[in-house]
Amino acid sequence: HYHQCLATPENVMAAVEAGKTHAEIPQYQDFAGYSAAGGYSALEALRTSGEREKAIETVLSSGLRGLGGAGFPTGRKLQYVLAEEGPRYLAVNADEGEPGTFKDRFFLEEKPHLFLEGALIAAWAIEAEKLFIYLRDEYPAARLLLLEEISKLEDSGLIQKGYIDLRRGAGAYICGEESAMIESIEGKRGLPRHRPPFVAQVGIFGRPTLVQNVETLCWVTRILRDGPEVWQGVEKNGRKGPRSYSVSGRVANPGMYELPAGSTILDVIEAAGGMADGHSFHAYQPGGPSSGLLPATLDDVPLDFDTLHEHGTFIGSAAVVVLSDKDRPRDAALNMLRFFEDESCGQCTPCRVGCEKAVKLMQAEDWNKPLLEELCEAMADASICGLGQAAPNPIRLVMKHFPEEI
Ligand code: SF4
Repeated sequence: HYHQCLATPENVMAAVEAGKTHAEIPQYQDFAGYSAAGGYSALEALRTSGEREKAIETVLSSGLRGLGGAGFPTGRKLQYVLAEEGPRYLAVNADEGEPGTFKDRFFLEEKPHLFLEGALIAAWAIEAEKLFIYLRDEYPAARLLLLEEISKLEDSGLIQKGYIDLRRGAGAYICGEESAMIESIEGKRGLPRHRPPFVAQVGIFGRPTLVQNVETLCWVTRILRDGPEVWQGVEKNGRKGPRSYSVSGRVANPGMYELPAGSTILDVIEAAGGMADGHSFHAYQPGGPSSGLLPATLDDVPLDFDTLHEHGTFIGSAAVVVLSDKDRPRDAALNMLRFFEDESCGQCTPCRVGCEKAVKLMQAEDWNKPLLEELCEAMADASICGLGQAAPNPIRLVMKHFPEEI
């Protein structure tokens, strides 16, 4: 599916100033449309049945894994949080700050109730006292439509007033890291926490907290409404389930494409209309800048969880960026490290100083490989959170696959 969103911060703000609500916001399925098509029937049936364990078992048996990037089995996470003593909370990570990722925006702006129903099902499954949605502030259209649709849910009686608390992020990439997001929801600076304890045990205000991604919750609705086959029935290259790839870079039609999870980069490029005119395929970022860059020769790897590990990378949030013969992977890697340098929260030295040092070393015409390797090792081993641990990936992969450039 090709999705082009027409809502920009400028036209949304113009609409707000003109006293309009959604005049400039793309069409989406609202509460009336969603309900008329059978929406919220899964939630109501589950609430009536009271069979929490059975519902969680269905999610577990489907094989659904968290689509925010970490890929933890969703059913297992629900079990862990439910096993902790209440009160419990649900926090939806709608921060989507990974460069190149825009799949959650698609779901929020096209099918907000598919997501909201999934969030309410997950909240019911863990008996959550309250549901927080931490939304990236760069998605103003999503915020406006969510505010309106949440108030319709309150009016309908499906939820109590104030049950869903829509929070605005403030542009920090690190607040997409779950424990930093929780700090931010608590009103503090978004600094990642040490683990253990895990947020499933000690989350928002010290209470057990389920953190889920927007797209994952859309699939929770689908699986509990239509059965686990909607997920399991999609298969390619030995992998199960669909995957929403955010595709950008040198392709003819950048956009969000839903393909089987076992698709290769060649399938993804083909879905995006092939390479852009005048460009030939040279390299790709498989899943956000933390995943680094792979050469075009590795074009037969299924782009799914686990399959990329032997190549020193991962699929993450499936943000695919395609580079061509007109790009230099070493420049792209430097750009990624500059991003990490900007976005490092500064809490730990290996990441704060390491990113800055790496940028300096990567600006040299000839890279000091032994020093960069030592630096990468220190950052990967000693950083507190995933940002610093994965920041060396672009450096290591360029040294491995594009030695002629450095
Ligand atoms: Fe902050 Fe980086 Fe340390 Fe993570 S690794 S806690 S972003 S300084």
